[in-house]
Amino acid sequence: MRQFAVIGSGPAGFYTAEALAKAYAETAEIDIIDKLPVPYGLIRFGVAPDHQSIKAVSRRYDKVAEGGGARFVGNIAVGDAVSIDELKQLYDAVILATGAPHDRTLGIPGEQLGGVVGSAAFVGWDNGHPDFADLDPPFDGDAAAVIGNGNVALDVARILSKTRAEFAGSDIVGHALEALEKSAIRTITIVGRRGPHQIAMTPKELGELGHLAGAEADVEPADLPPAEADAALEPGARKSVHHLREFAAHDDAGKPKHIRFDFFARPVAIEGKERAERLIVERTALDEAGQSVGTGETYAIPGSLIISCIGYHTPPIDGVPYDERGGRFANQGGVIGDGLFCVGWARRGPSGTIGTNRPDGYEVAATIAEAMPPGSSGGKAGGLGLSALLANRGIAATDFDDWRTIEAAETAAARPDSPREKLVRHADWLRVLGH
Ligand SMILES: Cc1cc2nc3c(=O)[nH]c(=O)nc-3n(C[C@H](O)[C@H](O)[C@H](O)COP(=O)(O)OP(=O)(O)OC[C@H]3O[C@@H](n4cnc5c(N)ncnc54)[C@H](O)[C@@H]3O)c2cc1C
Repeated sequence: MRQFAVIGSGPAGFYTAEALAKAYAETAEIDIIDKLPVPYGLIRFGVAPDHQSIKAVSRRYDKVAEGGGARFVGNIAVGDAVSIDELKQLYDAVILATGAPHDRTLGIPGEQLGGVVGSAAFVGWDNGHPDFADLDPPFDGDAAAVIGNGNVALDVARILSKTRAEFAGSDIVGHALEALEKSAIRTITIVGRRGPHQIAMTPKELGELGHLAGAEADVEPADLPPAEADAALEPGARKSVHHLREFAAHDDAGKPKHIRFDFFARPVAIEGKERAERLIVERTALDEAGQSVGTGETYAIPGSLIISCIGYHTPPIDGVPYDERGGRFANQGGVIGDGLFCVGWARRGPSGTIGTNRPDGYEVAATIAEAMPPGSSGGKAGGLGLSALLANRGIAATDFDDWRTIEAAETAAARPDSPREKLVRHADWLRVLGH
């Protein structure tokens, strides 16, 4: 029997566990350990609450935990409750699937001002992550700036723009829904260093901005390259740019909110007395390699709420080699060192869709199976050893049945137009479990 510990219950963790369960059938025991009492990582806490069909991927992960292929062990922060060295003693392989949950910083003056938040914090707040339950983003000003030209920036701008009725069917948490309903924000500026041809926004997400009840998207026609240049784009990017052209061409429909695209603008400072009041940007141009270069011309974009959506990094864990530049664990093809592996965003950095984590997890599982052929044994104590160690420390883990209990409580508490009202704080989870 082989013993495996997968650390992190997001997509990468679940796909890796699924691959290991398939490769080893009855000859391995797999623990999926998460610091939170509830599973799914960014599926629960990152993917936008109004994108329920995407969040439904968790049903596939349920099968891994319910089919006996793997055991969910929640409420155990690795590097804190238990160390990597301890896990390596207990398991044949430890696979880090801890994601990249920390916001990259902008590195500009004024970043520490009130009202400046990272997207991990903002989406964690509207998705009910306990670390951001008290974020309380300021919605009292009439302008917000969203920095970044990827899908996360679109998610954030859309959430800031929707009416209450448009959140029907979503699982946005109650505190966010209430605050957004009272929001005074009327102009949301999406700021990107490069131009329409360089965006990393997918057509479906961009197209949604064209169908909002109370907001319209605006693009400055002069920012668009000549239409014939779109032919050189790959089909997805061409569709995205098509949406931008529609936003540039539409007549003002008189909707109360506007999402403005400000291309060729590089943030250089945030200014304000006690809190953010404006984002200062430098106008850019593209060089021959398609990179943005500053022109020296600066101007201000108003914003008492400034949300940076410029990427993430993996927090280091004691005893695990770290790649500072990449902001992830140092690895070669998912191998960190003897018996230690990484997958998903902790391996590759924060890029790719949910589905990208599947081949990634399967590849690392295959590497492990080659080194430790199914049927062999390493004589490790595995989950039984972990349970003994945790009991010794007085630490209570949650299991998949506990998650089901929490899920049932969330479903029972749901608003009429929502599938669930998420429990947001550790204390609430533990209360429901009777701990
Ligand atoms: C805002 C946002 C929206 C997104 N929307 C989409 C979308 O609509 N469609 C799409 O395809 N992709 C989307 N993505 C990308 C997708 O979420 C990622 O590709 C995917 O979640 C990465 O999976 P992961 O398992 O590597 O990390 P994560 O999903 O972050 O999972 C990491 C897990 O590790 C746990 N963990 C962390 N540290 C520890 C520790 N020390 N001990 C124990 N456990 C730990 C965490 O609690 C978490 O459960 C989005 C990403 C973001 C940030």
